[in-house]
Amino acid sequence: MNFQPDPADQAFREEVRAFLREQLPVDVAARNRRGFHPSKEDELWWTQLLYRRGWSAPHWPVEYGGTGWSPQRRFIFEEECFLAGAPPTCAAGFSLLGPVLYTYGSDDQKARFLEPTRRGEIFWGQLFSEPNAGSDLASLKTTAVRDGDHYVVNGQKTWTTEGHYADWLFCLVRTDSSSKPQRGISFLIIDAKSPGVTIRPIVSIDDAHTLNETFLDNVRVPVANRIGEENAGWSYAKLLLEHERAFSAEVPRNKRLLSQLKHIAALALDGGARLIDDPLFSSRIAEAEIELRALEWLTLRALADMDHGADAGRPVGSVLKVRGSELIQKIGALIVEALGPYGLIAYPELDFETLPGPEAAAGKTADFLYRRAVTIYGGSNEIQRNIIAKGFLGL
Ligand SMILES: Cc1cc2nc3c(=O)[nH]c(=O)nc-3n(C[C@H](O)[C@H](O)[C@H](O)COP(=O)(O)OP(=O)(O)OC[C@H]3O[C@@H](n4cnc5c(N)ncnc54)[C@H](O)[C@@H]3O)c2cc1C
Repeated sequence: MNFQPDPADQAFREEVRAFLREQLPVDVAARNRRGFHPSKEDELWWTQLLYRRGWSAPHWPVEYGGTGWSPQRRFIFEEECFLAGAPPTCAAGFSLLGPVLYTYGSDDQKARFLEPTRRGEIFWGQLFSEPNAGSDLASLKTTAVRDGDHYVVNGQKTWTTEGHYADWLFCLVRTDSSSKPQRGISFLIIDAKSPGVTIRPIVSIDDAHTLNETFLDNVRVPVANRIGEENAGWSYAKLLLEHERAFSAEVPRNKRLLSQLKHIAALALDGGARLIDDPLFSSRIAEAEIELRALEWLTLRALADMDHGADAGRPVGSVLKVRGSELIQKIGALIVEALGPYGLIAYPELDFETLPGPEAAAGKTADFLYRRAVTIYGGSNEIQRNIIAKGFLGL
């Protein structure tokens, strides 16, 4: 691997920065940099803007509107957007459903859904997990029974991120209970406005509403909305879960958190001593920074390997997920500690200006609390460790 940045990639980074300086409003960027959950309007508006530049679905194949960028350029693009405070695009649609749709969808499904997703006209929600099927997803119980040219779907899904934003949902259902659990699962696309779909909020520990539970009561779904073969949905879901972990080190989020930590530690809160001058605290910051550097190089090496087709089939994404998510929690805890008494206030969304404390405190504890979930979502870290043990150590 060449450790020198490619001058062409550096020029690309400048191009992305210039685009962000021109297009990203200061107030939107400030909200996102504080770690508040984005609104649907911001996510779709930003997607539409990226679409006009041809950048809304960088990782999709060029024939479906992707950019053809190298993995390194995708990394640069994501890093610059995140650090500038750009809203995310709908992750469920772009990173999860998109690859399944262009790989296994029918021509009609591709025509109906890929381009409108890319244009920022459709918001998607993922209906996989159930109250008793998370890590052991193949044990899911939601049923879909054939009735002419429809399925009738019944069951309960949970943890639907941004489900209340969703126009469409993609869902794993059981279509055959008689064979091995993995063999009887199908993959359906469901209109969120269908009669029988009820989406109820789950308010998370940061007092925010991004999660939901979803009830499906006799929901009629056209058979034409099934992706691929009946009972073969598990293999499509596996592809989706691999994509979920491909960029999971969250290097940009860790970088932002580290720079916020340094900023807060350099404040003399209430006229007291600066934590950054405390050798013990500053050595903990240094330790986090060293881990972040190592994570960044590990990610860049994984991207270079991807480029050359090396390491195929090895669960590098699982390693990145474990290291990146644990680092987020470590730096988040240091931020809350550095805030001292101001870290006791969650600073719920939009209220931060009326609360006491330095401006830098806004959103930090709320974000720290929400990110307790980062070692759970996208496949828990215990499950990732099982995958690493099998894939790298052959256990
Ligand atoms: C913030 C957030 C957003 C989410 N968004 C979505 C979404 O949009 N759509 C969706 O479908 N799902 C979503 N999920 C669900 C997520 O995928 C599951 O929470 C996750 O897969 C874990 O499942 P579970 O919560 O049922 O825990 P369980 O599977 O019950 O696990 C409980 C504990 O046991 C451990 N464990 C389980 N099995 C093993 C094993 N074999 N070996 C070792 N340890 C094990 C787990 O690591 C965990 O610590 C989200 C979750 C969160 C927290």
